Formats: sequence, C-alpha cells, structure tokens
Amino acid sequence: MVVLCGGWQRRVTDAEVREVQQSALLIDSHNDATSRTLTGVDIGQRAKSGHTDVPRLREGGVGAVFFAAYVAPAFAKNKTAANRALQMIDTVRYDIVARHPSDFALALTADDILAAHQSGKIAALIGVEGGHAIEDSPRLLRDFYALGVRYMTLTHTNTNGWADSSGDLREKGVTRHNGLTDFGKQIIHEMNRLGMIVDISHVADKTFWDALATSEAPIFASHSSCRALCDVPRNMTDEMIAALAKKGGVIQINFNCGFLTTRASDEKSGVRATLADAVAHIDHAVKVAGIDGVGIGSDFDGVTCTPVGLDDVSKFPNLTRALLEKGYSGADIRKIYGGNTLRLLRAVEAHKSRPE
Ligand SMILES: [Zn+2]
Repeated sequence: MVVLCGGWQRRVTDAEVREVQQSALLIDSHNDATSRTLTGVDIGQRAKSGHTDVPRLREGGVGAVFFAAYVAPAFAKNKTAANRALQMIDTVRYDIVARHPSDFALALTADDILAAHQSGKIAALIGVEGGHAIEDSPRLLRDFYALGVRYMTLTHTNTNGWADSSGDLREKGVTRHNGLTDFGKQIIHEMNRLGMIVDISHVADKTFWDALATSEAPIFASHSSCRALCDVPRNMTDEMIAALAKKGGVIQINFNCGFLTTRASDEKSGVRATLADAVAHIDHAVKVAGIDGVGIGSDFDGVTCTPVGLDDVSKFPNLTRALLEKGYSGADIRKIYGGNTLRLLRAVEAHKSRPE
C-alpha cells in the first residue's frame, strides 16, 4: 500500500488490470486520426508519429472509435465546408474501414458496436465536428446521416449561422445569436428525429443550455473536460455537467494537456499534463455527474500535447491501473470506458421517429 497525501492507494496487480481491460468495451468518442489518413497515412501501420494506428489501438484494448469528420473553420469562410466534411467521411469509410476489413467494421448502431467487438474488430463510427459542415441545410444533415454520421458537434471554434461557439467569445466582428437560433433548434429536432447524437463540445455556455432544453434525447460532450479543475471556456462547469447527466447525457473526458491543467494551457511552456490529471478530471466528473454520466473522448491526433503516461491510444491500460488504484471497481470502469456511451447511443436511437 502506497501512502499518498490525502489518502491511500490500493495495490493493483497486472492480472487485475488485464482482466478489467479485456472485459471492458472501450469506446473513444473523439479521435482525429482522420486528419492523418486523409493525407495518405496508413492507419494499419505502426507509426512513430501521431497517436493512433491499428497496432497501438490493439495494445490499448480500444473497442470502438468515433472518428472525427473534422471541418476546420477556414472551410466555412471558403464556402467548402460540406465538401470537406464529405472528404473526411470518406477517409473513415474508405481509408480506415474498407482498406482494413479485418481490423475495422463500420458501426451505425449500438448493436453494430457490439457485433464488431464480438468478431474481434474495432468498431469505427463517424462524428461530424463543426455544424458549419451542413452549410445551413437540414438536407445536408440528412445526407451525412445516410453516410453513417452518428453525432454532430454543433460548432467548432467558430460561431456559425445558428449556434454560438466558445472559441470566438472575444473576437470582434462575429455575429452572435445568444446561443441557438430558432433554426438551430430545428436542427436539434432534426438530429433527434434522425437518431444523431447532439454534441455540445466547443459550444458557448448559452448554446449548451439551449441544446439541453431543446433536445428530447440525451446529449453529450464528445470531448470536453472539467472547468472546475482547468478554467478554459472549452471545458464544462459543474452546473453544466450535473444538468447534462440529469437528462441522461455523458461528459466524455478530453486528454488534451491544455484542457486538463492550466499549468499546460500555454503550449509554448512545454509543460505536459499527467495521467494523474486525467484521472482527477474523470474523478471530479464522476462526483458531479455520477458514475453513469462520464466517458472517454480522448482527442488523440487532434492535439499536439497528450499527458505523460497517456501518450497515445496504446496507453489505456495505464489509465485502467490508475482508476483501479484510485478505488474504482471493474464495473465502474466498464461504465466509464463504454457502458455509458452505449446507453446514450441506445437512448438516442430510441428517439428516432418518422418525418411529421
Ligand atoms: Zn475538437
């Protein structure tokens, strides 16, 4: 037993870590390997750079990944956002899944995730990051759903035509809407009707509250951490985390150094966050949301700085050990690693309905 300030740590064996890791269906709800595969990087080959490839996903025991069809704000300015989204969707369907059929299976439902896992494959899912991707058209939203998109992050760092972002709060010349416009609320209703998860990572606080009030299905933060521990606008306040969870939602903890600790929020400082910082955010979120309201949304390959000990997708067993040491049970960890995300996905699927 190791004595630490403020408490003690349980001694954990390698066998216990392996047992929990293997019994969990680990779902990472935000991975940006798409930014690499789009440029021709083969995700099947172990790479020295980047955070994600098949050998490292296998080592990390990752069961399912929501790959981000990330559309940078610049594509909105160029009016090519939908084109970019289509290219990013294709890199998941073609470069990741079609080119590696023995390692990946495209998953469109919670049952698909389970089926992929049972056949020894990694489930690949698609989330569009940046609501500007639909170019203000519900028709494009429906097209993206038809191509397999199962969540949409309402904004990226840019406020769009119908939702305010947390990323340009201090920027001048931005037309803001005080949260969601009426059209933005219609988009939420259409996402509910389709069975697409509403993702509030990146949005302004008022947009979060509007989305939570508007959505009939539970919503989630695909990759956000706790503002109480790291005060940046991208993270969620305790009030937001509690309200999200109360409606069946999940906060998926982001591993970006600058969202875990303000020590690392200036990237030039070279200070990295640690595994302990990631555990602290998970633990805080569990205290606020309850054990059913927390998941994992690493942001691997979307950020330049990852925590020491949680460097890439292969390092999840370190997190498993740290959570066991902290006193979390195998059942708790299985919920955080994927059980909660599966439940959320099923709840969103249950809200699907026909056009009115
Ligand atoms: Zn992001």
